[in-house]
Amino acid sequence: MSELVVVRDSGIHGKGGYAASDIPSGTRVIEYVGEIISREEGDRRFNAQLEQGRITGSGMVYVFEMDETHDLDGNVDNNPARFINHSCSPNCKVEITERHIWIIAARDIKKGEELSFNYGYDDLLNYRDHPCRCGSPRCVGYILDESIWPRIQQLPTPSPEISPHSAP
Ligand SMILES: [Zn+2]
Repeated sequence: MSELVVVRDSGIHGKGGYAASDIPSGTRVIEYVGEIISREEGDRRFNAQLEQGRITGSGMVYVFEMDETHDLDGNVDNNPARFINHSCSPNCKVEITERHIWIIAARDIKKGEELSFNYGYDDLLNYRDHPCRCGSPRCVGYILDESIWPRIQQLPTPSPEISPHSAP
């Protein structure tokens, strides 16, 4: 658990994690805990959660790549960090150290702000299964690692002159 995070209904998706107090940049906000499993088992669960997401319309996948031989499945009751949503303009980032996954404040965060991080998905084949509704002005429309963004923005769009994200 972390005293820095409260879980409640989110404006982005389902439940969300919110800052329980002001959090300075660089703070370890919460540890993303779960069951440590083999990469093989992780792939199996990742795909199962993906499939479940297709059925329910939720993009929630909780399997993290931890190291070369282990994944972590965060879909466990004692992991409130699993409620933290993805954002294309996140205020947190993920840091993986020796067998631990930390959600770190990427900037100063005010009490009451919704916490978010980039889920880091890099699946260029199936990214359309994970629409993003983060509401950020720089939202790319899908839950995708920022390193992938230039590649999807090269795809042809129906009206390239008009930004789909401009305010009404
Ligand atoms: Zn977004």
